Amino acid sequence: MKLDMTLKFLGTGTSCGVPQLRCGCRVCRSTDRRDARTRASALLSVGGVNILIDCSPDFYHQMLAAGQPDVDALIITHSHYDHVGGIDDLRPYCHARGGLDVYCQADVDSDLRTRIPYSFKADPYPGVPIFKLHDISAYEAFSIQGIDIMPFRVMHGLLPILGYRIGNLAYITDCKTLPAESVDVIKGVDTLVINALRPQEHATHMNLNEAFDVINDVRPRKAYLTHMSHSMGLHAEHAAMLPEGVQPAYDGLSINIVD
Ligand SMILES: [Zn+2]
Ligand SMILES: [Zn+2]
Ligand SMILES: [Zn+2]
Repeated sequence: MKLDMTLKFLGTGTSCGVPQLRCGCRVCRSTDRRDARTRASALLSVGGVNILIDCSPDFYHQMLAAGQPDVDALIITHSHYDHVGGIDDLRPYCHARGGLDVYCQADVDSDLRTRIPYSFKADPYPGVPIFKLHDISAYEAFSIQGIDIMPFRVMHGLLPILGYRIGNLAYITDCKTLPAESVDVIKGVDTLVINALRPQEHATHMNLNEAFDVINDVRPRKAYLTHMSHSMGLHAEHAAMLPEGVQPAYDGLSINIVD
């Protein structure tokens, strides 16, 4: 089946966002809106079905900026605050359908029950967001309204989290190392989204060179960098230095994925 896919980057920043609070560096002071990076999340539209990838603490403002598109389901990479902190704001999307479908690993499932326990009570307070949690595992395909999704293993330092392949798109965030089996799952994909924190090394996130290594292994037509910190420099300068086919994403960027 041919898929008509659009990915909108809602947030492309690292966990503390850019500008970073109480930082006066030139990136944090920049007036280029591409240097304002909220916490990482994206909205994938496939044939009219909207799948949210992570729900950052900036979700509410991201959705206002995006014109309040619908959300049909949420898929989660891992349960760090910068990827699930906005989940309570999904409330209006839950009630329309008697509970929003959420796909995540078992560890994320249990973290969510701790984070928003009021949503999972037997007799919940009226108006709380209601979720239908579906546990998924790396390399076990599932589908959302007929859209096939393949989760694959991503190592966030020592924490095993998920990346997702949907058609000709692979989305990876918070990766430090990518197992060979996952490279096989996404090899030759049209569009690869991959995290690159900064030029310098970090214990749990890829730096720029480590992201390049994955891009060279996967060989996508286009690669977009996300989850960037202020240490990456100004968008305009950074973008000009990247090799052909690789570009930094920015908040609000929409891309079409070639099937
Ligand atoms: Zn993160
Ligand atoms: Zn700064
Ligand atoms: Zn993380």
